[in-house]
Amino acid sequence: MAPASSITKPRINKEELFNLPPAMQSRSRFRSHRAAAMTESVIREMSRVANRYKAINLAQGFPDFEAPLEIKASACDAINRNINQYPITWGAKPLRDAIAAKYKHHYELEFDPEREVTVCCGATECMIATMMAILDPGDEVVAFEPFYENYGPDSIFCGAKLNLVKLHGPEWTFDPDELRKAFSPRTKAIILNTPNNPTGRVFTRQELEAIAALCQEFDALAITDEIYEHIVFDGAKHIPIMTLPGMRDRTVLISSLSKTYTVTGWRVGWVLASPDLSDSIRKIHDFLTVAAAAPLQAGGVTALAMPDEFYAGISREYQKKRDMMLGALSDAGFRCYSPQGAYYIMTDISGFGFPDDITFMAHLAEHVGLVGVPGSCFFKDPESGAQNVRFCFCKKYETLEAAKDRLSKLAGS
Ligand code: GLN
Repeated sequence: MAPASSITKPRINKEELFNLPPAMQSRSRFRSHRAAAMTESVIREMSRVANRYKAINLAQGFPDFEAPLEIKASACDAINRNINQYPITWGAKPLRDAIAAKYKHHYELEFDPEREVTVCCGATECMIATMMAILDPGDEVVAFEPFYENYGPDSIFCGAKLNLVKLHGPEWTFDPDELRKAFSPRTKAIILNTPNNPTGRVFTRQELEAIAALCQEFDALAITDEIYEHIVFDGAKHIPIMTLPGMRDRTVLISSLSKTYTVTGWRVGWVLASPDLSDSIRKIHDFLTVAAAAPLQAGGVTALAMPDEFYAGISREYQKKRDMMLGALSDAGFRCYSPQGAYYIMTDISGFGFPDDITFMAHLAEHVGLVGVPGSCFFKDPESGAQNVRFCFCKKYETLEAAKDRLSKLAGS
């Protein structure tokens, strides 16, 4: 552990850690209120920081191992078969059919591929298109905190107010009274991310019922981010809130190829919603990006046809990696919140005595050669996450072994 004298005076500051260019005040005439209200994504910044320090990157959540061969081959083959022109804006028909078949198989949910399935450029665009389709300036949207940082800018895009409800550690549960207080007659939607990034929480049926009841009482929608749906541990089960009574047409379900099939760079996601909602979402999507990449949509058809054993294998493998990293981080002095799903471990760094997460991360990058995500970026008030750091474990065993090795040197750094 760093001696107290060195940690109160960080050797590199935030600007140096992120290597940011100077703010361009003089050009503010050409900077919209939207742009001014946003900061750069800390998650994405950390990949740059890792490159700069040649550090092991356990920050931005993407695997460093291969996607399944048949999925890659299918996309390459699609290019060679000349699937290189615009697909239908809301998704190539074979992919929309495959998505509908998957949800029928896994969740007994039925969708009309012609009117209820929209393919976008990753869950990121799905969320922006959905929120822009539903929310007007002055509307309110509820989300749980800590939250995946994109939901903040997504709300800014729409001019909507984000009302946050605390998930309380160490279990990361919400207080039903606090949730109720976040709803108002102006509330159009709640964003629900389960399995949850960054906490690893998988919401229970009882919790989902409480959320569904409020959606119905306040005539609000549930917009779900279910991209970690197939990464669940210790027998936990992912339940789409859309399967609950009364929620079929009150939910916009978002997921993607990225995390399940190890293709985060493909940017192929989908939105499932009733025809009236899909109609608005499709229009926004069309004018935002026209379509997701055609050959990668073809690769997606192969991905979605993977057998049941493939999905069981994902959770089994990631559970081993979770356990390995829980051990390594705890041994190094982190207090860990054990995740029930997704591929992140949220930690408490207060045992190290650093003033905040950024200072700690600067130390970790420079002297230990490892980066995670400073926890403050998952909170509206950075103070709330100033003693948290998130590490991902979606890496090869050898990368995790190397990280473990470096972590063991943290005490002496
Ligand atoms: N979901 C990933 C994370 O939280 C990153 C996604 C992205 O950068 N688009 O690390």
